[in-house]
Amino acid sequence: MSVSGIASLVKQAVDIVEVIGRAVPLRRSGNKHLGLCPFHQEKTPSFQVDAENQLYYCFGCATGGDVISFVMKHQSLTFMDAVKYLAERYNIALPSEDRGDGDSSLLEASRKERDEIIAALECAAVFFHRELRLSPEGKIARDYIIKRELPDEVVESERIGYAPARWDALLAHLKNNGVDPELGVKAGLLSRGGTDSSKFYDRFRNRLMFPITDERGRVVAFGGRILASGEQNEAKYLNSPETPVFHKGRMLYQYGAARDACRQVRQVLLVEGYMDLLAFHSRNFRRVAATLGTALTSQQVRLLSRISDEVVLAYDGDDAGEKAMLRSLPIFLQEEVSVSCIRFPDGMDPDDFLKKYGIAELENLIARRIELGAYAVRKAVQGWDGSAAGRSKIFSDLQPIFQTVRQPLLQSEYLRIIADRFSVSENIARAQLLHDKSGKSEKEHRSFRKAYAPKAPEIDSLEEKIVRLIIKYPEFADSVRSCGALTCFRESKLFAVAMEICRDGVCEGVEMNSSQVYDSLAEADLQELYTRYLLEPYEIHEPEMQLRDWIEALIKREEKQRRKVLESALREAEQQGDTSRIRNILMEIRDLTSKTKDCDFSDNVQEIRPNDG
Ligand SMILES: [Zn+2]
Repeated sequence: MSVSGIASLVKQAVDIVEVIGRAVPLRRSGNKHLGLCPFHQEKTPSFQVDAENQLYYCFGCATGGDVISFVMKHQSLTFMDAVKYLAERYNIALPSEDRGDGDSSLLEASRKERDEIIAALECAAVFFHRELRLSPEGKIARDYIIKRELPDEVVESERIGYAPARWDALLAHLKNNGVDPELGVKAGLLSRGGTDSSKFYDRFRNRLMFPITDERGRVVAFGGRILASGEQNEAKYLNSPETPVFHKGRMLYQYGAARDACRQVRQVLLVEGYMDLLAFHSRNFRRVAATLGTALTSQQVRLLSRISDEVVLAYDGDDAGEKAMLRSLPIFLQEEVSVSCIRFPDGMDPDDFLKKYGIAELENLIARRIELGAYAVRKAVQGWDGSAAGRSKIFSDLQPIFQTVRQPLLQSEYLRIIADRFSVSENIARAQLLHDKSGKSEKEHRSFRKAYAPKAPEIDSLEEKIVRLIIKYPEFADSVRSCGALTCFRESKLFAVAMEICRDGVCEGVEMNSSQVYDSLAEADLQELYTRYLLEPYEIHEPEMQLRDWIEALIKREEKQRRKVLESALREAEQQGDTSRIRNILMEIRDLTSKTKDCDFSDNVQEIRPNDG
């Protein structure tokens, strides 16, 4: 397995914000996390971690890179030791030390096991889906799907399945396909017999099966909904257990689809159930993800903040839904991710609501969403019974919210709601709510308040301007490549970076994957350069026109230089009286002129428009 393969294996499984956050106190600011750089002495934070691109950069000492490079530098480890450290720390399956003789064979084995588990899960997904479609037993699931009005296209696209009501249906299928039952247990598909550990049985029985996929679209787990109503002692929902490929606190159902849909509108809905989510997909609404039957975790909130600027909770309209919603507020405040909520009338769940009112009414609800903290504060003060004791209880209940909320605007909105309700001044409410706030966190806030804001750099180099532009607007990478601008690059580092972006850019109709570009830039100084360009703010007004100007200037510059070289060669050839060489050079000069005329950049750009809205 290649070194870059090992790196990407680990990078997929860990979150850079979590890893760095353990070593450096970080504070969220927009899409970035700021902190005091661990690599140089500073008082105002110029160290940034970018969750979306999974990179960090310090604008004070120009150190930057990915999560592995951070661990290497921070703990003075070699590359392989940093990878091993992360693998151990984050439970990325590594076989025991004695099985291999070297570091890469350890990782090779763990990668192999993960691949085998993924293959077993895929085999199960095919089986469950086929059972749903074709088996006589699957009628109970087909009836349920009809009852819930789940359209065929969704059943197909999400590969919904059925686990038969038997102990050995999947077991037999896996065996027939050469999958060792031991592997089936590791994959969370089979369980071992209670008294006889050599016996195996199906973990999921008589359930509607929802495949859960990772960011690359591979099935990594299942959620199963019980179908028989008689079996009271069975849980309504059963999920795969934690496995080497599935960490439920770090995943969300249909995250990949939500990520794609959020490119247009950077706002994502969060629901609690598989069926609720599919009700949205049935109506072609895909900016939605679902938790996996457990309470929301901070990793999940960070996942959502990678793809959106605001999370809208669309939990069930009943009391349980409201409680779950309010419980998640501290996590959003802690992570400084904007969160609001919509409430469905009459205790409806999202599925009921969509069936009754449709997607247009849902959009209306979204338009009238309420910021979650304000909702919680309003909810708390509404319950006041008018007594002084009741008032102090509410103040003390609200204290945790005030101690977590960091945005001054939100804080002042909450204070206004409280001041109105209790007819006191906002100052008194503030004093009451913040009186026992610890001095330490106040101090921390103060030092963070003056966070270093990197200034937009002054740039003279045409090549650097073009590279920065295609990093910011990868949709133009194709134009840069096809108009031949890359051949005019003189600065080798910029050329190397531009080549990688144009290779991995929108050329194939996929979004530029910054970590792919980062990984393919094999040298550390190129990676650092790329990280800086990616994280440094660089406003470009009218990128298309700018790019056209810069490329024209670049091509003209190249032509001028080439012409100079040719003209001096021509003079030399004339002095030597070398007629054939003179003829060749003259032809080259003529070609140069016609080539420049041919290169009409506008033709290339017109077809490509920024599509990220
Ligand atoms: Zn630094």
